[in-house]
Amino acid sequence: MLCTIALTKTVEIPFVTMSNGLKFPQLGLGTWQNTEHPEAIKSALDLGYRLIDTAFLYKNEKMIGTALKEYFEAGNLTRKDVFITSKLPYYAYKPEDAEKYIARQLESLQTDYIDLYLIHWSMCAERKTDKDEPVTDNDGYHVPCNVSHSEVWKILEKYYEKGTFKAIGLSNFNETQIQTIYDQAEIKPHNYQGECHILFPQTKMIEFLRALNISFTAYAPIGSRGRDKSNTRSDGDVFEQTPVKELAEKYNKTRAQILLRNHLQRGYTAIPKSTNPKHLAENLDIFDFELSPEDMKKLDNIEHKRLFIFDKAIKSPEFPFKDVVDEFADKPLTL
Ligand code: NAP
Repeated sequence: MLCTIALTKTVEIPFVTMSNGLKFPQLGLGTWQNTEHPEAIKSALDLGYRLIDTAFLYKNEKMIGTALKEYFEAGNLTRKDVFITSKLPYYAYKPEDAEKYIARQLESLQTDYIDLYLIHWSMCAERKTDKDEPVTDNDGYHVPCNVSHSEVWKILEKYYEKGTFKAIGLSNFNETQIQTIYDQAEIKPHNYQGECHILFPQTKMIEFLRALNISFTAYAPIGSRGRDKSNTRSDGDVFEQTPVKELAEKYNKTRAQILLRNHLQRGYTAIPKSTNPKHLAENLDIFDFELSPEDMKKLDNIEHKRLFIFDKAIKSPEFPFKDVVDEFADKPLTL
């Protein structure tokens, strides 16, 4: 039986196939900043979402684990119908820490496997001994820790080989870092998750990943409208871009739908976050129209800038984004 909100139909979402054969839905549910709305997880499943993106850092794995358990117990779906992505926090890359955090995440999510598990950031920080928090210096910057990417990757490989992770990957790395891990890895990354929207379309990165047969997930796909100021740029409104407004009118779709359709046609996975039932349904309603190649081009002709800057980690030797260093190294931290 379907629960929570009234529905007329469940949408079937297309998928991409990862290099190991795993089927990865092309549209999923983001959950950053959702710590209080388990009903949104259930509503999303009712509507047809089958991919849920979370992370230790989002502080919602327990909520999601409970929502899924209740949903399954109500006889709706089973664990194997849902694809869960989660991520290792950047202050837990020391092997003994990583093991502990992975165990906690599995327990919170009430599962014995995670479909896709990512190293959340390329930069690693020391952890406070008694808290799930990074150590910071007097100016608020993270104190880097000395763990190599290959050491962390080996942990992910171990859990992949045990079957605890069905696929493994990276988030917020640059191409050189990805290539180095790829070259050294026994199990090659299956996925890379990066910021991607019309202000930051990641065209070069997506081509690079395709050449390595690494699937791509676009985070902040509709411009992270509700992002908090911490670690992000405050300007940059994707919805207000002229081509988005014009195309919404032309296709009689909402701005979010135009943006999500653009991702779909570019051929990778997007994970818009919503806790609003109207938005959850709207974001799935993108399979009955197609943007013309000319209109796709209009969305690619917009001034480009990254919204997620991670400036508190800028002092890390592994900080991946040169454009951020060039722009923000001498500016005060976002709070
Ligand atoms: P996003 O999905 O681009 O935007 C979410 C925001 O847009 C929310 O404020 C949401 O509010 C609003 N929204 C959703 N649908 C809408 C619609 N149809 N019309 C108007 N507003 C709408 O941004 P995001 O949450 O930053 O990114 C998506 C997901 O990517 C995250 O939730 C997280 O899972 C992942 N992520 C990963 C990283 C990483 O470092 N790997 C970083 C950032 C995000 P309502 O809830 O009110 O609808």
